[in-house]
Amino acid sequence: MAPYLLQDGGVGVVGDPQQLDHLLQMLECPICMDVADRPPIYQCPEGHLLCEECNSRVVDCPQCGHALMNSRNRTAEELAARLQVGKIKMCKKVET
Ligand SMILES: [Zn+2]
Ligand SMILES: [Zn+2]
Repeated sequence: MAPYLLQDGGVGVVGDPQQLDHLLQMLECPICMDVADRPPIYQCPEGHLLCEECNSRVVDCPQCGHALMNSRNRTAEELAARLQVGKIKMCKKVET
């Protein structure tokens, strides 16, 4: 499922925990294996994701070896922000 299918502002993932998990996995940082679920999310020149913490620790991308340029991945950040909304809505649903 491509993230840009969430044009409806994240409504597509609300109430579907499996799909939410699947999308969150796409934001997993390959270094620390944490999900980069909030901005800033960084990427190497080849587009590999890094979380904020790893971007500040690592000089070269561990996956392709390119020097990191401190470039943000706005698409991932947007996806993360929408998933946060989805998660919050789901939590509220569970609580009530
Ligand atoms: Zn990381
Ligand atoms: Zn890379």
